Amino acid sequence: MGSWIECKCGSPIHTNLFCGRDVALIISEDELDRVPEGLSAEQVLALLVQKGDKWIKCTACGRIALVRRKDDEVDFYQGEDSNA
Ligand SMILES: [Zn+2]
Repeated sequence: MGSWIECKCGSPIHTNLFCGRDVALIISEDELDRVPEGLSAEQVLALLVQKGDKWIKCTACGRIALVRRKDDEVDFYQGEDSNA
């Protein structure tokens, strides 16, 4: 699992959830509904980490990198009101 990608601005972005800064998980309602009952909090977290896409904010330019779990494709987004 690669843990660095390059932002459009040229900055390296760490994609590891537990090492990277400003990394968040995006979990769809469908995935939440599929979490089996009776799991421990740690098991639920591990499952969500497996299923979720990642939302990562570039600390240099403020762009958002969206990393899709299924194929590791990365899309970049920039806020309309961003002045970076
Ligand atoms: Zn950037």
